[in-house]
Amino acid sequence: MIYLKKAVRTAETDQQGVGEIVAKMLAEIAAGGEDVARRYARELDKWSGDIVVSAADRVAAAALVPDRLKADIQFAHHNVRRFAEAQRATIGDFTIEILPGLMAGQKQIPVSAAGCYVPGGRYSHVASAIMTITTAKVAGVPHIAACSPPRPGVGIPPAILYAMDLCGADVILSMGGVQGVAAMANGLFGLPKADILVGPGNQYVAEAKRILFGQVGIDMFAGPTDSMILADGKADAEMVAADLVGQAEHGYNSPVWLACTDRALAERVMDLVPRLIASLPTLNRQSAEAAWEDFAEVILCDTAEEMAAVADQVAPEHLHVQAEDLDWWLQRLRSYGSLFLGEETTVAFGDKTSGPNHVLPTSGAARYTGGLSVHKFMKTVTWQRATRDGARPLAEATARISRLEGMEGHARSADIRLAKFFPNEVFD
Ligand code: NAD
Repeated sequence: MIYLKKAVRTAETDQQGVGEIVAKMLAEIAAGGEDVARRYARELDKWSGDIVVSAADRVAAAALVPDRLKADIQFAHHNVRRFAEAQRATIGDFTIEILPGLMAGQKQIPVSAAGCYVPGGRYSHVASAIMTITTAKVAGVPHIAACSPPRPGVGIPPAILYAMDLCGADVILSMGGVQGVAAMANGLFGLPKADILVGPGNQYVAEAKRILFGQVGIDMFAGPTDSMILADGKADAEMVAADLVGQAEHGYNSPVWLACTDRALAERVMDLVPRLIASLPTLNRQSAEAAWEDFAEVILCDTAEEMAAVADQVAPEHLHVQAEDLDWWLQRLRSYGSLFLGEETTVAFGDKTSGPNHVLPTSGAARYTGGLSVHKFMKTVTWQRATRDGARPLAEATARISRLEGMEGHARSADIRLAKFFPNEVFD
């Protein structure tokens, strides 16, 4: 395995200083509440309009969205909802009789209040509204708040607002960044305090969620988006290059990787990528150029198995196989947020419309977690009950184990039951 191109920076080295800024902002908002949150909205997003979006504003926004775009948003919403509903169907409560007279069970209960962050600084992330709010809705979360950065003089762009409304947001805040996240976590602007914060965002948003974790649940720690393509000699170099550029466009610090068993294909892709980037609109070009130059890697592998091992080690957020024998790859690969098999699909489909969630683990977090799903909004809780006969062996064993541990109070909770339920017997 050799590197034809190596990253000169990593996402981690890019985070310096952010933690301090975010911690200070969170502390100020926790102490000063809505006034401080509004001040940050003014300073950072040049927004001094209403924070809570009114019903009239929702209607007005919908009127501004062209019918064709509305239909596209509805199409994406339908697919994301269908996928989430299939996830919901896999969630099952159960009851088991562990011993005669000892019943126990598991229940899945949705959290009471979710806060969905919909990024909007750089691009209008309509799809993130669909992915987060729809999934919370299907999970059965009773109160769903959503927030997104307002544009100066405009507020939340109409298409995002339309999507938030369509997908079922109960309350929408025109507020982005740390202040938006803090408003949902602390229950500002009339919201219930969020039990869980979900959704992607820039490094300030991600850091705010990380710091608040514990006070609230979070879906995951999400850094800059990343993508890997695995390609063999049969892959279409132009498609591979276009897909790499599409993902590098996300941000200046969005890593993309190509692992490839064919040197000629790898070299062709490396030749094409800068040219495709050069043809992008200015802002997109600047992001993609920086991402490609600083963070991208091209790795030449000897075998498909070696490519798979590289992918497992990187654990990319998006993993796209453009190689033969897709069933083998589906069986073999172990670490990714979402897998895309074959050139007929692409990460862009998953990002925008196809159904599986696009809020996914970044920066290698796919080693230990999957992406946003109905399950993330559910608490897996357990219960138990027993008959008196069922309680008897539990009480005897519990008393002995508790005394061995030195926990006399526990032992007596067991003893008192034996004494009450079996008054004519002697227990040692
Ligand atoms: P954003 O909404 O995440 O951040 C914008 C906010 O950042 C603003 O409202 C502002 O308050 C705050 N901010 C900006 N500069 C600041 C500063 N100096 N100090 C404190 N706060 C500051 O939008 P964005 O910046 O465009 O980032 C979106 C991110 O979301 C990108 O990294 C993108 O890759 C990611 N994303 C990921 C996925 C996914 O599924 N993984 C999907 C969509 C977007």
